[in-house]
Amino acid sequence: MTLLFKPQHVKLILEGKKTQTRRISKPRVKVGGIYKAKTRLFSKEYFALIKITGLREEKLGDISDEDVKKEGYNSLEEFIEVWKSIYGSWEPERVVWVLEFEVVNLAKSRMYENVKTWNPFVGCRFHCVYCKPSFQRQAKRRRKWCELCYKYEPHFHPERLQRVPSKKTIFCCAFGDITFAKLEWIEQIFEAIKRHPNKTFYIQTKDPRTLRYINDIVGIPKNVKLGVTLETDLDTYETPSKYWHYSEISRAPTPSERIKYIFSEARNLVDYITIEPILDFSPGFVRTLELIYPEFVYIGYDDHNCKLPEPPLKKTLKLIEELEKFTEVRLKAIRKAWWEANSVQELARL
Ligand code: SF4
Ligand SMILES: [Zn+2]
Repeated sequence: MTLLFKPQHVKLILEGKKTQTRRISKPRVKVGGIYKAKTRLFSKEYFALIKITGLREEKLGDISDEDVKKEGYNSLEEFIEVWKSIYGSWEPERVVWVLEFEVVNLAKSRMYENVKTWNPFVGCRFHCVYCKPSFQRQAKRRRKWCELCYKYEPHFHPERLQRVPSKKTIFCCAFGDITFAKLEWIEQIFEAIKRHPNKTFYIQTKDPRTLRYINDIVGIPKNVKLGVTLETDLDTYETPSKYWHYSEISRAPTPSERIKYIFSEARNLVDYITIEPILDFSPGFVRTLELIYPEFVYIGYDDHNCKLPEPPLKKTLKLIEELEKFTEVRLKAIRKAWWEANSVQELARL
């Protein structure tokens, strides 16, 4: 579903200065839904995804000063002039539909301003095909300091324990998977975490059994949020890609194994789920996620052109809409699948 806007409104909308629009006929949208904002109906291009936050009827002449601003204008006179140029006349008694909305990507990205990674442990042996161009490339830049970082071999950097970033939220061990960390390293990392009770540390893995193991032996500090990456619930794919089976993408437990382990081993330990890079999923994925009941979910497409078996954008938007009924959704790169037309248009990035 699409909402049309005048080209002169695009910048105002993207900057968050226009969050309201009035329409003479009832728009076919519902509150909470996410829609494409376009300037031309039959164009495939859209400039933003917008989420409808309110819908009501109101007389045109009842618009408040505050709402004139939300429409993106400085004065009522200015708004009336533009209205007349579009609809021909200004009839204050005319009842119109008032839509309130927010731009999904910009609204969400503000959440990440106070976030930093901290990597006292680095490395992984799951060999995900999409890791090399992302995390591993960043680690490789450190070759002159550390050969093991360059090779992405699991190893410990104890000198970093004292160098916890000053931010409030910290992605801990983001360059690697703690499944490959020795217990004694994790103990030391947790001791350092406990010395910063006002910060929140996010740790995630592709093997939920690791969470159980760490919890049973070391215990999880209160200020740690544990996550599991679950790019999909499927182990095989039919969308265009050279990858047909998850085992060709990663040596980590397959998505179905991960789901099984979450329920059997880590049921009450998982605080959040990361669906990134999203892969095509079954209709039951949302129900599985609802049963896991995460506090929040990260969701985003691969942004390194790995040509993974991605779901079409429409399917992902529907998933987001369903997820928002029971959890907080944190959007990362949301775009069309690489195999869809105009797939290069990236709409939202962390
Ligand atoms: S599990 Fe994470 S760190 Fe390990 S290879 Fe995959 S993406 Fe990289
Ligand atoms: Zn290193």
